[in-house]
Amino acid sequence: MIKFLDLQQVTAKYSDEIHEAVSRVIDSGWYLQGEMNATFEENYSEYIGTKYTVGVANGLDALIWILRGYIELGVMKPGDEVIVPANTYIATILAITENGLKPVLVEPDINTYEIDESLIEEAITPKTKAIMIVHLYGNCAYTEKIGKLCAKYNLKLLEDNAQAHGCLYNGRRTGSLGDAAAHSFYPGKNLGALGDAGAVTTNDKDLAETIRALANYGSSKKYVFKYIGRNSRLDEIQAAVLDIKLKHLDEDNALRKKVAKYYIENIKHPDIILPKVENWDRHVFHIFPIRCNRREELQNYLSANGIQTIIHYPIPPHKQECYKEWNDLSFPITEQIHNEELSLPMSPVMTIREIEEVVSRINEF
Ligand SMILES: *Cc1c(COP(=O)(O)O)cnc(C)c1O
Repeated sequence: MIKFLDLQQVTAKYSDEIHEAVSRVIDSGWYLQGEMNATFEENYSEYIGTKYTVGVANGLDALIWILRGYIELGVMKPGDEVIVPANTYIATILAITENGLKPVLVEPDINTYEIDESLIEEAITPKTKAIMIVHLYGNCAYTEKIGKLCAKYNLKLLEDNAQAHGCLYNGRRTGSLGDAAAHSFYPGKNLGALGDAGAVTTNDKDLAETIRALANYGSSKKYVFKYIGRNSRLDEIQAAVLDIKLKHLDEDNALRKKVAKYYIENIKHPDIILPKVENWDRHVFHIFPIRCNRREELQNYLSANGIQTIIHYPIPPHKQECYKEWNDLSFPITEQIHNEELSLPMSPVMTIREIEEVVSRINEF
């Protein structure tokens, strides 16, 4: 069977280095807030191109802490609005509502699947405090126009970079393009830990310090609590694993792009819409999303032929039970994407034979 993502192989590729690094942590007797966090944070800041990285427990917490940090700093208050793409993964929106802020959903562009820059300005109100862009599927969502809107209306530009580690915009990494960015190191992400992990990157010293305290019970000084925080720390073992995998991230992203290029050049089917890539720097193919109006049939056919695919995502946030109050809202582009999207196998460990097999099966559909 051709797996959607063979995580065992992904880890096996760096098995010796990872075992060695994990053993070092185990033998050190120091498992939290130690040298490995400091090292990884420094290396990740350098890689992304920000002054600060704060390691946290997972990507959802990274998103939550950015907004909570701004609330603690008096930049936002509950009831304020955050503009966000309607077709994002639910975590982006959970982080907004968790903080008592109001998500203002904006439709994506049907060609890029990223927030439609032409629809943002009309969604801005006096309560808008931030635009949260999501580099969905690994494709850069930032545009010059979004940057200008943030400057014009004095809005924070936030990035959900959970799916786009290593992605570039004019030589700068996503995660350094706005005021603060959330990163998830969930095992299946381009930079994945061996468990849950996340980080915030920013150039804002006050925000970084506030988040570091929030994620450590609200404390920056032992037994002194400034905020009502939580325990949301990155542990030393995960930091050690991430530091190893960070060294190989560019090489792994290049392999993902090779798979994507092969798919784009060779999949030829009248019912299948391939991702449109205008600039290969700006996509790291966390996901290879195709669209097909016979999606279920295609997925079943591929499955019968031993090819595993996944839908990202079957139900949009505004149709979820947890957000009942939005269930009657209509976002036609978002709904179309959720009805037609299918993600093909994609990883840096796919073999040529597997890639060819996926292509020929699809072309015979
Ligand atoms: C994975 C993901 C998250 C959440 O990250 P976790 O580490 O799983 O909490 C947030 N946003 C997006 C777009 C994601 O893909």
